[in-house]
Amino acid sequence: MLKPSAVLDNSTMKESIMSLMENLMQTDPYSPCTLCPRRCGADRSHGITGFCGMTDEVIVNTSMIHRGEEPVLGGKGGCGAVFFEGCSLKCIFCQNHKITKRTGKGTSYDDEGLAELFLELASKGAGAIDLVTATHYAPTVSKAIRLAKDKGLGIPVIYNCSGYESVSTLKLFDGLVDIYLPDLKYYSSKVSSKYANAPDYFPVSCLALDEMFRQTGKIKTDASGTVMMKGMIVRHMMLPGNLFDSKHILDYLVSRFGDDIFISLMSQYTPMPHILENESAPDELKRPLSEENYGRLADYLAELGQTNAFVQEMSSSGSLMIPDFKS
Ligand code: SF4
Repeated sequence: MLKPSAVLDNSTMKESIMSLMENLMQTDPYSPCTLCPRRCGADRSHGITGFCGMTDEVIVNTSMIHRGEEPVLGGKGGCGAVFFEGCSLKCIFCQNHKITKRTGKGTSYDDEGLAELFLELASKGAGAIDLVTATHYAPTVSKAIRLAKDKGLGIPVIYNCSGYESVSTLKLFDGLVDIYLPDLKYYSSKVSSKYANAPDYFPVSCLALDEMFRQTGKIKTDASGTVMMKGMIVRHMMLPGNLFDSKHILDYLVSRFGDDIFISLMSQYTPMPHILENESAPDELKRPLSEENYGRLADYLAELGQTNAFVQEMSSSGSLMIPDFKS
């Protein structure tokens, strides 16, 4: 048998190595998919879906100018929100439940189409692009942000997510996302297992928040001081019957980041029809949030000394805060 050196001259050998390197560099980020901490390995490029319920086809359910976010986001123009279908966390009580799976009513986009969508929202007056639950499409969405910025997108890009993210996937957004808007939902592993089948939620999300903060740094605003241009806002939506879990979350956020970030306390929990109709759903999630307990949690945040905070009014609970999704 001929030895390789006998059939491959130096330049052919070089070419082969280059092509091997290229193949290695071009590995498909969607197959096998390990984009989120579930790491299910689904062959999404060939139509297989993982826990997030989506193939590599990027589906946007709704895009709109949205004025329901924290007041520092988007300024007078509001946020150009892009709601993606699918979700890699899938909390059982989800307020966006209708679009955590493929609805058949959304629109398919490639990276160039998404970049055009961002630019279109900006041209309609949006003061920021608000990407809602894009984790499972990170490779395409990060390319789209780069394309849009190359074409002149000059408003901040917000990455609005569940907090349950892989650091390696977040690195795709380094230098592209201006504002991270993650949730920090659960402290106890028992709670995150029960509500989201994610026993590792808290430690995984803590690492993700550290990476997000590393990328954006401390809060920066525009010259008026009222519109956020860079930084991180961590949301925590209080759940009925979970005051102690919520207190642990606030303890962690204040001790880890303090006023270098905004903490956004949310009262908008609404028992959705799919929870009310589900006999095996935990009883506490079928109740609305107690106003008294929410007040106690808001007081607790103030006692911790956090100044950079938003505290949603109790009147925000109810389905009025939920966009009218196509389903
Ligand atoms: S993004 Fe979806 S397919 Fe990929 S690892 Fe997460 S849940 Fe699985």
